[in-house]
Amino acid sequence: MFATKPHIPSLSQLTTAEATLFYSKTVERYARFFDRPEQRLRFLNNTLAHQIACKEKLDHALESHSFIKKLGLYDRIKSTGFYDRLLDLWLHRHICRELQNLLPSASSERRTLLQRSKASFTTRLLFRCYEMRRLLYGAAVATCIVALLGFGYTAVWSARRLNSYLASRRQTERRLTNSASNQNAAVAESSVKHLPDYHPEKVWLVEQQGNYERYSNGARILTDYETENHTRGYYVLPRNQGGLVKTGGAAQDVRREPVGIVYHTSESDMLPFTSDNNASIEGHTRGLLEYVRKNKSYNYLIDRFGQVYRVVRDTDAAHHAGNSVWSDAAGVYVGLNESFLGVCFETNSNSDSLDEQLTEAQLVAGRLLTQVLRSRYQISDADCVTHGLVSVNPSNMLICYHHDWARNFPFEAFGLSDKYKVAPASVSEFGFTYDEEIMEKLGGDVWAGVKLAEEEFRRRAEESKVTPEEMRRRMRERYQEEMNLTLRLRTSHPAEVETSRQTNDSNAPTASRLNARQT
Ligand SMILES: [Zn+2]
Repeated sequence: MFATKPHIPSLSQLTTAEATLFYSKTVERYARFFDRPEQRLRFLNNTLAHQIACKEKLDHALESHSFIKKLGLYDRIKSTGFYDRLLDLWLHRHICRELQNLLPSASSERRTLLQRSKASFTTRLLFRCYEMRRLLYGAAVATCIVALLGFGYTAVWSARRLNSYLASRRQTERRLTNSASNQNAAVAESSVKHLPDYHPEKVWLVEQQGNYERYSNGARILTDYETENHTRGYYVLPRNQGGLVKTGGAAQDVRREPVGIVYHTSESDMLPFTSDNNASIEGHTRGLLEYVRKNKSYNYLIDRFGQVYRVVRDTDAAHHAGNSVWSDAAGVYVGLNESFLGVCFETNSNSDSLDEQLTEAQLVAGRLLTQVLRSRYQISDADCVTHGLVSVNPSNMLICYHHDWARNFPFEAFGLSDKYKVAPASVSEFGFTYDEEIMEKLGGDVWAGVKLAEEEFRRRAEESKVTPEEMRRRMRERYQEEMNLTLRLRTSHPAEVETSRQTNDSNAPTASRLNARQT
């Protein structure tokens, strides 16, 4: 379409007169738009003059910049045809501009003239394109924008696809890892993975003053109401006693360290939690603290403003859990007063439901205290549980005798896994069960872990070739024996217990006690 002629040497080698002659051949084709000779001549002269001026300007520019010559660009620009093409483009621009100036401005008149003229189709098309150049520029810009947006959208979409693919792969890997461990551990594992990074060994005591302790995680424990009780003492029982496996006494050492935490509510009277009640709310807390100290009810109390009080010191048992059972990977615990720390929140459930509510301050303080205790005693996540989940009534073999936090405990906010999904040992080991009243109290059904535990108990009865009822009768006796054993430990002198442990089975009372446990 352009006027480049292969048999002609590069335009750069032509003199001005030769170039004028060369360009005039192209310009003449466009001059056919004009009927009148003087118009045609004016068009020819103007266009050629502009083009020659441009060529001279280009030559001058190429020669005056020494770096173009030094880099060898001068010859390259001319020999590759770039020079010719550039001038050709300029020529057509000049032609179109002149046509625009000299043709009639009325569009209908102009169209008639174009149709009538002897100019070739390509010539006419080129001129029409020039006329519509703004529209064409707009279309080109719009196309570029659409292409860019499309590219951006595709990039974002691909990144999201990649992310979700990687996430699902990680989840699959995690599932595979979890399935290797036992079910309870799997539940604990999967929930804890989503919680903020926390390692128990990270918390330490920063400051200890007359009536408080301050810890590295920001926890502050008030000690004004601290009191003592009898020293802890308990056994860890082996799992699967339902199979009536004989258990040796040697493995059952007396333990003194707290192994877990049981969370409670005070179920005391609550005043509306408003600023004008400040003094009365604190008055209630003082009354509660005095009651807890007198009865040695809990190891810790967290008031409604999030203040943490240590009442019964950690080394001593508090009377918080009574008849209760829990288990972990190490074994089964019966009578959790001896083995678990009792942490009580000053709160109450609504009269018609079991829905307890914590204040924001209690939630934060409870989380911090949990970290302190887990750090100090290396307490496993699996052993942080609530009273409602561990409480039993051996007289009727029912669970949930005390029902504080039998549902809705905010485990996740405390950095703990959901224990409502864990099979409770009260049901799976000892065959405790539930009735309509308990289900109603819990809002229609028991928590998911109980169903798992029931299944487990049934399976074990089957393995022992007894009915679940017979197995339950035996396990009720077993529970009573375990509880009595714990109580005897408590009444015996700590030093005496220590001696009997060290002399192992040679001590007659200890042996008979262990025999009693095995029947
Ligand atoms: Zn309780």
